[in-house]
Amino acid sequence: MSTANAYLTVRGIGVDVVYKDIKNLHIGVYPPIGRVRVAAPERLDDDQVRLAVIQRLSWIKRQREKLQAASRQSEREMITGESHYVWGIRRRLKVVERPGRTNIEIDGERLVLYASPEATTEERRVALDRWYREQLRQAIPALIAEWETKLDVTVPKWTIRRMKTKWGSCNRETRHLWFNLELAKKHPNCLEYIVVHEMTHYFERSHTERFTKLMDKQLPDWRSRRDQLNEAPLTEEVWR
Ligand SMILES: [Zn+2]
Repeated sequence: MSTANAYLTVRGIGVDVVYKDIKNLHIGVYPPIGRVRVAAPERLDDDQVRLAVIQRLSWIKRQREKLQAASRQSEREMITGESHYVWGIRRRLKVVERPGRTNIEIDGERLVLYASPEATTEERRVALDRWYREQLRQAIPALIAEWETKLDVTVPKWTIRRMKTKWGSCNRETRHLWFNLELAKKHPNCLEYIVVHEMTHYFERSHTERFTKLMDKQLPDWRSRRDQLNEAPLTEEVWR
């Protein structure tokens, strides 16, 4: 008997599996980071799904490279009218040119970028990234403190960084956690899911059945949070 859901790691790639009443197996690679999801007939088990994924590994890798190239191309111009996500909310950017240093603020529905007229697009992007990093830096400590208490563990060190294919990671030896800078664009529920997921690796190295059970106990709605994290749009249209 197979379980309804599984989270496998195949050659280093995380794979979400949903068993359904269907005839054929479907593999999808989803933006923005190339998350792999499999819909599998209920008659298959985890090992058979693993094999199917391995057989399609080169296709999966090609799709992931395409997505990553697309996300590089959709780099923002940092002009008024663009939309940028902040904590899961799409905000319209307003650029206000003024002398002095670059600064970013939320003003009502808008994200306002104050920049000197000489500031380059790259400098504006760097300013926004710095601001996203600050958002995460402010949000993470409370979450970690809460989950340190709940799980009775200590997180000695955590770092925010840009990662291409992972939302977070955990070094089990040093207990160091990493969080993807992009999490500042997602709903706060997604950040909490990643915090709990990475801390759960303290107890279980890989995405085994035991790992899933721990997640079910600690954060019963983790699947919908994970889906929310991975289904957000890759490209954000410019509002006119
Ligand atoms: Zn993991």
